[in-house]
Amino acid sequence: MSILILNAGSSTLKLALYDRDCRLALSGLAEWEADRAAGALRLSDALGRARSVALESAGPGEIAAEAIRAMLRETGAESAASSVRISVHRVVHGGEMFRNSVRIDDRVKTEIRRLCELAPLHNPPALLGIEAAERVLPGVPGLAVFDTAFFAALPPRAFLYPLPYSWYTEWGIRRFGFHGISHAYCTERAAALLTRPAEDLRLVTCHLGNGCSASAVRSGSPVATTMGFTPLEGLMMGTRCGSVDPGILLHLLERGLLDPVRLDLALNHHSGLLGVSGLSSDFREIESQALAGHERARLALEMFADRVRATVGAFAATLGGLDALIFTAGIGEHSASLRARVCEGLECLGLRLDRDRNRACQPDADVAADSSSGRILVLHAREDLHMAREAVRYLTRPDAPQRPAGDAPRSDGRY
Ligand code: ADP
Repeated sequence: MSILILNAGSSTLKLALYDRDCRLALSGLAEWEADRAAGALRLSDALGRARSVALESAGPGEIAAEAIRAMLRETGAESAASSVRISVHRVVHGGEMFRNSVRIDDRVKTEIRRLCELAPLHNPPALLGIEAAERVLPGVPGLAVFDTAFFAALPPRAFLYPLPYSWYTEWGIRRFGFHGISHAYCTERAAALLTRPAEDLRLVTCHLGNGCSASAVRSGSPVATTMGFTPLEGLMMGTRCGSVDPGILLHLLERGLLDPVRLDLALNHHSGLLGVSGLSSDFREIESQALAGHERARLALEMFADRVRATVGAFAATLGGLDALIFTAGIGEHSASLRARVCEGLECLGLRLDRDRNRACQPDADVAADSSSGRILVLHAREDLHMAREAVRYLTRPDAPQRPAGDAPRSDGRY
């Protein structure tokens, strides 16, 4: 029996095949764009052996279907398609309706489509992936796993903004939080590595990739997170600004210096590391240019680290102490110097990084000094594994805590 995982993002389609024991058999990556007619699927097996398969198709939806077929062919099993027991799809935005993973049916798809308004770059490709899996694997159930679901447990004091309350009740303006699959995985993984139940732990999880977010997690549930109504809020990111004074935006709009379309472009695509450095959104490039003496690359690095550190401090206070600080995703896993910069100053919280462990770290690893009162964990981001586990939980107990898919969309236009 296999579990097919699809993570259809705005520019890449990631696939994986897991067995019933949540062991990875094969993973694949294809790049896609709305106007691209063909592409390649880069596959790698459990031993890390890689190969590339050409995909010929008429558009992203067909590329997704072809990628699934190519992946199944690669398993070598004659009836690979019939061995797939479930397809699992990462969906970025589940609004207020989806608080858990949910079996996909027409009503679920309608709701995910409705939520495209709030996640225009992310929910549409997820739908393409879902429909491609339905075409290639007719009759195989699909499970949607939402990036927002982990944050459904946020208390009102954390998900409300200090805005007129009616903006929430009438327009649905609230914090949703994103990267929840990664923060949920880190919570489980940290508990396993620390051999303590998640219920006993106060964690700050930092997902630092192209998109960046941090969460405060107490007893396995989030109590605060940096991303908000959209994935634009919070930490500084590759091309996204993170939190800025909303007065700046009003000023630019009122003075006619930017219109809403150009403002959107600037905040989402021309800000963050790229905006400050003027060089690149790629952290490796920023680090190497900073080392070579590029002043604005150095400034971008410092600003990035300052914001992560300030958030860790704030969240530690929210939690009343910290049992572990967690770094994950591309930057969090690979940049020892960023981790060191962030931890400079966190000694006041009792957190002490061990320089040698940090430099030599191969995730998953604890890089805290023995004298540190809280652990500092570097975890390999495994959203796909979390999704495979969700599938196993669903297959084991299909009727258990799935929120019914049948809730009618809210009539007041809220999500
Ligand atoms: P995404 O959010 O798209 O999944 P990733 O988690 O892969 O992205 O993170 C991408 C970021 O990680 C990029 O800024 C990249 O430069 C950075 N990164 C990847 N490898 C390294 C490395 N060895 N050192 C520093 N940064 C790295």
